Amino acid sequence: MNTKLINFSKCIWYLPSEERTDRPCLYYVKGDRFSIAIDAGNSKAHVDLFYEELNKNNLPLPEFTIITHWHWDHTFGMVYTNGKTVTGEKTHKHLINVSQWEWTSEAMKKRLEKGEDIYFCDTCIKEEYQNLSDITVVTGDIVVKGEMSFFLGGLTCRLFEMDSPHCRDSVFIEVKEEKVIFLGDADGEDYYDNNGTYDKERVRTFLNYLKSTKAAYFMLGHDGPTTYNNEIEYMEQELSKIKE
Ligand SMILES: [Zn+2]
Repeated sequence: MNTKLINFSKCIWYLPSEERTDRPCLYYVKGDRFSIAIDAGNSKAHVDLFYEELNKNNLPLPEFTIITHWHWDHTFGMVYTNGKTVTGEKTHKHLINVSQWEWTSEAMKKRLEKGEDIYFCDTCIKEEYQNLSDITVVTGDIVVKGEMSFFLGGLTCRLFEMDSPHCRDSVFIEVKEEKVIFLGDADGEDYYDNNGTYDKERVRTFLNYLKSTKAAYFMLGHDGPTTYNNEIEYMEQELSKIKE
């Protein structure tokens, strides 16, 4: 594994995603006063790698970690992060549920049978964790209903709850000064509530939202940064493929 921190702009860095265990990108925004991270990653090993890379680049550890949605790959590292974690209220409700799940092969199998979890995540979780008993799922320290702003010093980070094509509990984070919006996995299909497909109305609403923004870049959960035009073109193509 040779995942290195990438410098995106003078105040944004990210650890790229890793396909093998479905690790998402972990983003970092540095203000003059303090820094935040976006998404906690899928395990202690993932958080450790991210923080090692921050150390190597002489970047202070994040004081807050904002979670884009409840899925395991973005949240199972929460318990190992520095400072406080921040989630939306809808994400919080999901995490209350997942924090009560039992982590044995038997319990995981039952959740698949009942449709509570999905095969792709089940496989990747087993790949990331040699010992399932190492999994600890926690809820956030700070729960936001609606929106909240962080004044990092020279930068304003506004997070807000949104519905999205991928999940019902998305939290987007806008850094106005950088013309950047972090979307998590929002532009992907919905595997938990819509059988891995798109809902046309949700895609349409999302696309309209993207168009209404003044962002130059959208930061994606697994695909990294993409330009405004590329993302809108991509979503328009996806929308045109969905049957009514
Ligand atoms: Zn997701």
